[in-house]
Amino acid sequence: MRNSAFTELRSRILPQQLEAAAAEDKLVAVIFITFPTLKEINATRGYAVGDLILERALSKVAALARNDDCLVVTSGSKFCLILPLVAHEAILEMVLCRLDDDLSAPYEIDSETIFMPGKLGAGFGSGVDIQPDDLLATTELALATVTKSTSNWHLIEAKSSASNSLNDLQSELRSALEQNKLQLYLQPQVLLDTGACVGFEALTRWPHQNRFVSPDIFIPYAERSELIGLITRWTLHNSLRQLKALDSRPGTTAPLSVSLNVSGRCIADSSFLNTVGNALAIWDVSPERLTIELTETAFLADLQTAARACNHLKQELGVKISLDDFGMGFSGLEILQKVDADELKLDKSFIAKLCSEERSRKIVSALIKLADSLNISTVAEGIEDPETRDILRSMSGHLGQGYLFAKPLSENDVLPWLQTQSPS
Ligand code: C2E
Ligand code: CA
Ligand code: CA
Repeated sequence: MRNSAFTELRSRILPQQLEAAAAEDKLVAVIFITFPTLKEINATRGYAVGDLILERALSKVAALARNDDCLVVTSGSKFCLILPLVAHEAILEMVLCRLDDDLSAPYEIDSETIFMPGKLGAGFGSGVDIQPDDLLATTELALATVTKSTSNWHLIEAKSSASNSLNDLQSELRSALEQNKLQLYLQPQVLLDTGACVGFEALTRWPHQNRFVSPDIFIPYAERSELIGLITRWTLHNSLRQLKALDSRPGTTAPLSVSLNVSGRCIADSSFLNTVGNALAIWDVSPERLTIELTETAFLADLQTAARACNHLKQELGVKISLDDFGMGFSGLEILQKVDADELKLDKSFIAKLCSEERSRKIVSALIKLADSLNISTVAEGIEDPETRDILRSMSGHLGQGYLFAKPLSENDVLPWLQTQSPS
């Protein structure tokens, strides 16, 4: 069994495995495993117990994996297991049943019996027809389906159902965009010292069939076509419009800022600079109030070109650049060396463990010092409790974002929320 990071898996391992499977007329399967009750266990029994059970769950999955399977922890609590060269779909169903059985078994911790079953979403396909991203998107779809159902696993074939559902989803998303049905949510970012709100991160929501489709699901779909450019432009214009509207709120103090998530496909597009410049002019917002957030995946395909595009955007327009989910991937430091970043967003997987893990505290403290020495500010994301905020304060972290301060707010909720904040 091999361990590897998700980015490496997507860009290198999965393409190789699809090719090998195609040559032998076999299947490749990807299984995502999440634990919906982990949050509750963390909250009621503490992070140490949650972490311990998670470790044991990982051991259970590792024990079932064969030598050439690949197991990755994609975020602190989501596992990804890849099975190359599977002979038949029925074998996969057997693996899923075994995994479900093992993960549904109770854990004995300090003579207490605790249950933490997994939800398993699986996608499979054969290499000639499908791309790694198709397979991963199918697996996301399977996970989203199983998360809503009472069963613990769900299996979807990438070849037939993914291409159909991909087309369906893309055309539904396109018409949602054309009918202006997407919604903008803004999550406050606050000064850790005072709690004062200084700005927001723009997060896009898609209301679809009586529920919200998570951006974690529809953004990867959109990224495979020009739809992502249209969504980014929609989010950009609406965030700036909202920012401008907030300028006229009563008792206005310092101007607020907004952070926009931008994917690699957009930053690599030569027209993006004009799109941003035009939007700033139309809404009459000064450029330093707009931050462009990029994750490591935006730099994966071509680091030099993406880094040049970022630096150009900053020099030409004066917008700020933020490196999102910093610390999660392999090449954060390499990107930092090439991109003239203004901000590092410290990934929530580190922040979530600040109270329980000495090691995470050391890493976060070192990242804040690194940022300070480069004159870069930091945003700690995913702060859910006052203890975590206090640790970050003691480390001189600058900004914070997370459910402790506010969940992402709908456009109508932003102003009332701001009014509940005492002036500082
Ligand atoms: P992200 O950029 O890392 O955004 C932060 C995510 O963490 C958001 O999820 C937010 O709701 C969630 N979050 C905030 N505070 C907390 C907390 O205290 N605890 C926990 N557990 N989670 C917290 P969301 O809105 O579902 O967005 C998921 C991802 O989708 C974002 O991750 C971002 O990468 C992407 N995304 C969202 N909107 C857009 C968009 O307009 N364009 C692009 N390209 N990507 C977007
Ligand atoms: Ca972000
Ligand atoms: Ca983030």
